[in-house]
Order: sequence, then C-alpha cells, then structure tokens
Amino acid sequence: MVDKRTGVNGGVGVLPVADVNKNLWAPWRMEYIRSLDQEQGQSGCFLCDYWAHPQRDAENHVVWRGRSAFVVMNRFPYTNGHLLVAVSAHKGDYDAFADEELLEMQVLTRDAVRLLRETVRAQGVNVGTNLGHCAGAGLPDHLHAHVVPRWMGDTNCMAVLGDTRVIPDGLDPLYRELVRNAAALGITDR
Ligand SMILES: [Zn+2]
Repeated sequence: MVDKRTGVNGGVGVLPVADVNKNLWAPWRMEYIRSLDQEQGQSGCFLCDYWAHPQRDAENHVVWRGRSAFVVMNRFPYTNGHLLVAVSAHKGDYDAFADEELLEMQVLTRDAVRLLRETVRAQGVNVGTNLGHCAGAGLPDHLHAHVVPRWMGDTNCMAVLGDTRVIPDGLDPLYRELVRNAAALGITDR
C-alpha cells in the first residue's frame, strides 16, 4: 500500500507502523470497552455475576476457577483465545489485595499461557492489565488481566483486516477445547 503522505509503498499494512504498535500494546481496548458498556448495563459487573453463578460457567465461557480468581474467555475477543484472568472480589486497586490473591492471579496467568500454547498453538502471548479508566480499563473496579495469544505474522493480518474481529460463533467450540485441555494438563486440579 502506498502511504499518501510519503508516497512510499509500505507493503501490506494499511496503518502507519506507529499505529500498529500502539494497537498491539493494548489490542483489547476498543472492543473490550464496547463490550463492557453493554454488559454493565444489565448487571453492574459481569465478572461478579460470573463468579457468583458457577452453574452458568459453560454459558459464560468460564474455563476454570481457582480459590479467589478465575479464567474466562473474552466475549468480544481481539483474537481467538483471548482470555481474562479475574479475581473473585470486586476490587480494582492492587493495594486492596492480599499477597495470596495476587499470587493466585499469577498462577492462573501462567496456566492460561500454557493452555493457549497447547490449544491454539500460540507462539507468543501478550499479558496486560489496565489500571484506571485513563489507562484503558473498561472495568476499572474489578481487577483482571488480559492474556492474548499471538502468532508470527499476525501483525500483518491485523493491519490488513482492520476492524475485522473473531466471529462469536467460534467461541463455543474453542471453549470446549480449552476446558478439555485444561483438564488434560491438570490445570483445573490445583
Ligand atoms: Zn465485579
């Protein structure tokens, strides 16, 4: 593609490199904020809802639960396999947590990365937490981390596809595979 300002043919990308890098750093921001606007209108906090209703784990795509944290598929993913690791308590500030709670979040994050390597053959993973609205948090009062699988060359795909996102219909089959693999890897037994 030819850059209108410079006349340089930059190859397959349709975004300036700086924009691509910015999006890669926080790939979940826009879709996630939009999804939260919708979900918060119904129940206040969807993460609290999910935690309180284990009988709906399959419907909510909760992959597994720890003692004080859990792992759920992001409903409006940036990419297939985008997971959230959330604490059970409705608290947003790191200072509000005991060491054990933060440690479990890290343990679940480790296992989520392992699960993505196994299930979607992730070659790399972005792990990130946005603290506060101005940092891009769509749900600043309930601490959670994003775990986003990456593959070689997916930057080009994203630049070309622009706003194209994963089709929601793909969530259920992938959910079942994640649950199966989590059990096979022994992740859910801890
Ligand atoms: Zn909450």
